[in-house]
Amino acid sequence: MKFGGTSVEDAAAVERVLAIVQAGLARHPVVVVSAMARVTDVLLAAAARAGQDDPIGALADLEPVLARYSDAARRLLPPAEGTRYQATVTSARAELAADLARVARDPAAPDAVAAQGERLCAALVAAALPARGVPAREIDARRCIRTDTRHGKAEPLIPETDVATRAALEPLIATGSVPVLGGYIGATPEGVTTTLGRGGSDYSASLIGAALGASEIQIWTDVSGVLTADPKVAPAARTIPKLSFAEASELAYFGARVLHPKTILPAIRHGIPVRILNSRAPEDEGTRVAAESEVVPHTVKAIAFKSGVSIVSVTSTRMLGAYGFLRALGEVFERHRTVVDLVATSEVSVSLSVDDTSTLPGILRDLAALGEPTVETGRAIICVVGEGMRGTPGIAARIFATIRDINVSLISLGASRINITFVVEESRAAEAVRRLHAALFEMALEPVS
Ligand code: ADP
Ligand code: ASP
Ligand code: MG
Repeated sequence: MKFGGTSVEDAAAVERVLAIVQAGLARHPVVVVSAMARVTDVLLAAAARAGQDDPIGALADLEPVLARYSDAARRLLPPAEGTRYQATVTSARAELAADLARVARDPAAPDAVAAQGERLCAALVAAALPARGVPAREIDARRCIRTDTRHGKAEPLIPETDVATRAALEPLIATGSVPVLGGYIGATPEGVTTTLGRGGSDYSASLIGAALGASEIQIWTDVSGVLTADPKVAPAARTIPKLSFAEASELAYFGARVLHPKTILPAIRHGIPVRILNSRAPEDEGTRVAAESEVVPHTVKAIAFKSGVSIVSVTSTRMLGAYGFLRALGEVFERHRTVVDLVATSEVSVSLSVDDTSTLPGILRDLAALGEPTVETGRAIICVVGEGMRGTPGIAARIFATIRDINVSLISLGASRINITFVVEESRAAEAVRRLHAALFEMALEPVS
């Protein structure tokens, strides 16, 4: 059971979590928590400030964060546990001071700072559960999630994580106790703290669920499952009861923040269903993601979008009738460890979309050896997803007719059976999603002639 930031944002939210865990006790849950809402942003901003030579000011910036945890503890914990928890906050402050002081010379330090949000939350929830009749113990997630050393976006070492997670959690579960861990954080085999990338607590939960052979991975958040679109953009969005693993992966990857893109991978590997549930409305059914797909008559299941995308194009007459060009191109992106989302090619040009702009200068330099590179920034990818959709005539026509006055570049129809993906200007993405949602979900569908 993974609880996201808004689900643990204050004492009242944690109370709801405690009740949900208590209700699920018969299924032997393991609890994974995020930091309280918005805390990770503040921690990372403090690390950045410390890196600009102001570790003292950075620590002062964190006092309101520490106060949120202390305050929630005062409301939630019995006196003895409360005193112990305040000591935990005091030692977190001391660790933060030391970690902030070494940010400028140690690339691993920001992860140690960021990890405090999840660590304090796990300690709080573990301390609060026993008073509700739930035996619980905090387990340091860094003993379980083993990763490589890519700080800020570490990759888990799966076999090591499986072994360490089982060793740390199985004996505890066997005694009827509920392990409580922080998501998002891990450690290298040498024990150096790492993080899995923003939104990574979902991924922690699925890694742990997979290691333990869980019967289900539950992602508890602030909406009732995966919706037909982000409800903040399309307020009429509604819950999708069932998604296939492939549909959920596409949606997560192309911007449906409700699920971290990598969450589905361990679940697929072990065939474990994932449920997305609302901690404010625990009785809602939410969404079930599982291997089997469900081809519904509607065929379009959801619309996702991702801003901050850039399109890199390379034009070269050397491509004409030549082979090996795409490989050379691919090698440039590989060298800069940059993920490419969409690709479209013609005889003399290739366009690719990327959402990591930090590596673009180096990529453009290398691409100049292959042809003439150009970049368009400020774009957004829109992804319309639905198993079976591609076999249904008229869907692409309906999509592009709906947004006919919005310029579309880079359309990808070919790669997967289950999505139609394209790029628009960032400034029009929300409007496009809203209009598509209205056309595809809020009106009776007439056959396209
Ligand atoms: P948590 O802190 O629980 O991990 P997130 O903020 O990461 O929560 O994800 C939940 C948010 O994802 C929702 O509040 C919603 O605005 C956003 N979201 C984007 N696309 C979707 C979608 N298709 N379905 C549901 N939520 C979505
Ligand atoms: N707290 C982390 C973040 O804000 C991880 C998560 O919430 O999943 O990115
Ligand atoms: Mg999240």
